[in-house]
Amino acid sequence: MNLDDKPLGIVGAGTMGSGIALSALYAGLDVILQDPFPGSLEKGKAYLESFLAKKGLEERISKVSFQAELEGLAPASVVIEAAPETLELKQQIFSKLDAICPKDTILATNTSTLSVTEIAAVTRHPGRVAGMHFFNPPAVLKLVEVVRGMETSRAAIDALFKLAQLLGKVPVEMGDTPGFIVNRVARPFYGEALRLLGEKAADHQAIDRVLEAGAGFRMGPFRLMDLIGIDINATAMRSMYEQTFGEPRYRPHWIQMQMMQAGRLGRKSGRGFYDYGDTLEESSELHLSEAPLSGPVLISKGTYAPGLAARLAEAGFPAADVAEDPPPVAGFVVTGREEDLAGEIRRVEARLPYTAPLFVQAADISLSSIMTHVSSPERLVAFDGLFLGDGGVVTLVASPLLKTDVKETAARIFASLDYEPLWAEDTPGLIAPRVVCMLVNEAAFAVLEGVADAETIDRAMQLGVNYPRGPLAWGRQIGYGRVLSVLDHMRSEYGEERYRACLLIRRWARQ
Ligand code: NAD
Repeated sequence: MNLDDKPLGIVGAGTMGSGIALSALYAGLDVILQDPFPGSLEKGKAYLESFLAKKGLEERISKVSFQAELEGLAPASVVIEAAPETLELKQQIFSKLDAICPKDTILATNTSTLSVTEIAAVTRHPGRVAGMHFFNPPAVLKLVEVVRGMETSRAAIDALFKLAQLLGKVPVEMGDTPGFIVNRVARPFYGEALRLLGEKAADHQAIDRVLEAGAGFRMGPFRLMDLIGIDINATAMRSMYEQTFGEPRYRPHWIQMQMMQAGRLGRKSGRGFYDYGDTLEESSELHLSEAPLSGPVLISKGTYAPGLAARLAEAGFPAADVAEDPPPVAGFVVTGREEDLAGEIRRVEARLPYTAPLFVQAADISLSSIMTHVSSPERLVAFDGLFLGDGGVVTLVASPLLKTDVKETAARIFASLDYEPLWAEDTPGLIAPRVVCMLVNEAAFAVLEGVADAETIDRAMQLGVNYPRGPLAWGRQIGYGRVLSVLDHMRSEYGEERYRACLLIRRWARQ
């Protein structure tokens, strides 16, 4: 590969092709941009001109040769294909490129979900074919997934790494498995959120809010699906489901299909889960209107609410050991394992005034199971202790018998700790533990299947989709024992293979 005297070739002048061309122009490379549709080429040119102008680089447009025919790509040292996502079309393009380009030209596909091996199989030199998957917008996002098809040569991978670095990107290498790293590991973010919505555990705004303010994601799953395009996301889901012969973790959800049928595709159609018409998107500011409260609290032993005791103490809720005057204002049970839970609930409940809320962590146990251990369900509130963070939102589940005044006190206590209480229905794994533990599980499966190592996967998720932490580092932080406990709980409640824990999680939990 010699990009000093040979241009970079790009097939398709759409969103990705033009964006990749812009990255190349920023880096000072010559570009051949090919698209058979004159309207697309014009649009691509206008896009390049406007972004180059913003950086005072107008003259670089002269470095682009616009071509209607694939033959025009013959002089390129590397050709990146960014045509529409259909296997037949991509195979046609690669078979032609194989005949047109000299055999030392590297051919790369920007496919998000198709098999690189299957695209390469139509060429006579599959060793020079690889995946080079950019993220949208390509001129901004740093990550590039370099995908090794079954026959891809080391030289082709090395050349694409060099090209990515020349473009100022961070390349990561991986095997050719459905969804590569980012699109695969991110699947549960959408899939579990859609299931929560489908089961009416909470509405889409609440799920977004918990994952943004509670778990630290820059955008909740519904906001993000609206941005990506509900059709694009659903197609990726379907493609992964089909390529894996029906892996239940990737099963598309009927809500996505119905949204597509209704033409609600997200931002691009003005309406998706949210409305982008005249109405303003609702603000994500927290409104903590409850009057503050303070007083001693009872806390069980356990590790399912890291940092909670310190936070309570700081906010004027010191831990009470014996019967107190004033009496405890709330009890917290933060024990994980069901066998310890009954004893801890009994111990806390016995010393708690009847009007004070009893909070029991519920990341790995359902409210309905907790209820079998309490004597006064009128004051029982299940809560997510694993994703309390430093304020923001807390997910609460009210016992069906919860008294109104106790519910108000419960909300006031969390408001005094700077949390907005978000009431959800009783659902296995609640919201954040369910979504995050399934992301950790998916990342562990990717390690197990040799897609890439843990460090690469973590880096890819942070760079490609801006996750607040790499999923495997996140698993270590939560504790693999607790991740396993959440997964096993969901598996047993749903009885579905979808929630089976990866054997690596089980192994790491033992260690
Ligand atoms: P797009 O629809 O914006 O652009 C596709 C372009 O290909 C259009 O300009 C079209 O005129 C052109 N085209 C159609 N037939 C062609 C042919 N026979 N030869 C050459 N060009 C042809 O699509 P996009 O979003 O840029 O996606 C392109 C590829 O990149 C897809 O494989 C997609 O999966 C992948 N991708 C997309 C994103 C994204 O967020 N949009 C992210 C990563 C990867």
